[in-house]
Amino acid sequence: MRYPHKPNLGVLLLAITLAVAGTQRAWGITPVTCSSPQSAQTQPTEYFISLADNASNLAHVSIRFTQTSGTLILDMPVWNALYQVRDFAANIENVRAIDGAGRPVPLVKSKTSEWTMSPPNGCVVVDYDIHLDAGGPFGAQLSAEHAFFNWAMVLMYSPATRAQNMSVQLLDVPAAWELQGVHVLGYAPPGAVDKTVGVAHGYDDLADSPAEVGVFQHFDFQQDGATYHVVVHADPKDDNNAKLEDILRRITHAEVDWMADRPFTEYTFLYHFPRGHGAGGMEHAYGTAIDLNAERLGNNMLPVASVSAHEFFHLWNVKRIRPQSLEPIDYQHAMDTRALWFSEGLTSTVGDMTLARAGVLDDRQYIDRVASEINELQTRPARAWQSVEESSLDAWFEGDAFYRSPQRSISYYNKGEILGVLLDLRMRRLTQGQKSLRDLFQWMNDNYAKKGLFFPDSDGVQQAAETVTGRSFAEFFHEYVAGVQELPYSEYFNFVGLQVAETTVHSVNWGFTTTTNLGGQPEVSSVDKGSGAERAGVAVGDRVLAVNGKPATAPVEVQFGQLHEGATVKVRLANRRGQHDIKFKLTSRNEQLYILQDVPAVTPEQRAHREAWIHGNDETGGQP
Ligand SMILES: [Zn+2]
Repeated sequence: MRYPHKPNLGVLLLAITLAVAGTQRAWGITPVTCSSPQSAQTQPTEYFISLADNASNLAHVSIRFTQTSGTLILDMPVWNALYQVRDFAANIENVRAIDGAGRPVPLVKSKTSEWTMSPPNGCVVVDYDIHLDAGGPFGAQLSAEHAFFNWAMVLMYSPATRAQNMSVQLLDVPAAWELQGVHVLGYAPPGAVDKTVGVAHGYDDLADSPAEVGVFQHFDFQQDGATYHVVVHADPKDDNNAKLEDILRRITHAEVDWMADRPFTEYTFLYHFPRGHGAGGMEHAYGTAIDLNAERLGNNMLPVASVSAHEFFHLWNVKRIRPQSLEPIDYQHAMDTRALWFSEGLTSTVGDMTLARAGVLDDRQYIDRVASEINELQTRPARAWQSVEESSLDAWFEGDAFYRSPQRSISYYNKGEILGVLLDLRMRRLTQGQKSLRDLFQWMNDNYAKKGLFFPDSDGVQQAAETVTGRSFAEFFHEYVAGVQELPYSEYFNFVGLQVAETTVHSVNWGFTTTTNLGGQPEVSSVDKGSGAERAGVAVGDRVLAVNGKPATAPVEVQFGQLHEGATVKVRLANRRGQHDIKFKLTSRNEQLYILQDVPAVTPEQRAHREAWIHGNDETGGQP
């Protein structure tokens, strides 16, 4: 999830070279020494990754430093892609080094994720094996079926040369496999994959350029002067490529048009549609990797549209419009940031608005989605004491099921998305519809991203809103961003002729809540006192594997919601003690539900404001 902001955007800086050479895979792992193999792109740091042991999930990494002098330190990141410390060094074994004469170089493991050596000046090659079996856009995986690389989970770096050019070369690639990388490693058809070389301008650039290697479907389309590459790794019978292309054309056009900016010439969408769990999406400056459960997709393209619109907007918000607190990237420690409510939450605000703008959602669907976000926040007691900035700071706890419970935390995605809507409505009200979130993002793009500057977190957003509208947003930021004041929804929505209403619905009650660790398996985050689920032994942290014999898919609430009061449900759970089945009876409860509905008499002005708000337009009063 990291990308260094560069003053000179664009792929012109990149040299992408594909070189085809003879294959050596019949002899196993290709050895790397100071003299061979020849690299097609000689750089101060050269990475070679052999895929020979794909069936055992082991990648063999060789790092060749062509000119060392003095002590050489190598670090392995402890986190990447998720705001969670995952200690990738745990997957590394058999670290060793040889010098230019082929002699072993002694090395010391100096820290949990660091190795130190003092080779003779000149060339040195460091080798290690790494176990890669975490699928999905936040992981790295090498298997008999395919490879997906987030490079910061695979490759060590030297802190001293982290900002210098580095090349990447794949070795011993199975004959039928193709490669599609984001940004650094370009597309290579079967047979051309061995010795595929990409050059990254530093480790941050490399970390932001994942690659898929395997057998997959691939298509390109051109739009607004850019080339979009789409890779789909899925069961061929789940073929939805024509629909996918239509949706991506709409989304990419809507966002490029909304930002009046296209800071790339090529962009890559990497999709996995697995039969099992689909984990969500991960943004990169020149592409995105997205996993979604194939069964859940079926013929409904809305989940893929929704995630794609969010991740695509990240190419501006967080990748280029970047908070100061995330720079420079510290791969060795968790980083404190209060800005995720903006970098994630408002990415969702704009993502959903884009779907309305692109005609993927109609007006009512859009309004209902906003209402469901309000509903989510209002049912989390933690909103009374955890601010959205604190939720951002605590992002690093999200791997923990108790932390995710409604009593313990709110989500900076959820409240951030709502704050994006309210910020937009307030800007519109203060300027009679002349200025909006669109102007705020374009202003931040012009004044930070395009100048290669980072914005000063929440203060930078407040300053942008105030500069664009000429009005104060001090109270808004003090009470709703830094503070925990209850959000006065109806005061804001009145501008577009809407109000929040509460209704009571009678619904099935299964007695516990679940959350997922960014799209993984549903985990129990709280259990109702005295419920049938509690008596049956459901506990916080249990993973829900199946409901009535069907695999549990997130959100599991959808599966429970289809059952009836009084029915006995069978749930398969997993925890430290293993797997077990439990049975309990479903009860019912009256639930408060928040909806957005028309105010009693909607005026023509309110209708016009609403139309502009939903589609992300300014009301320029007939001016061009
Ligand atoms: Zn995001």
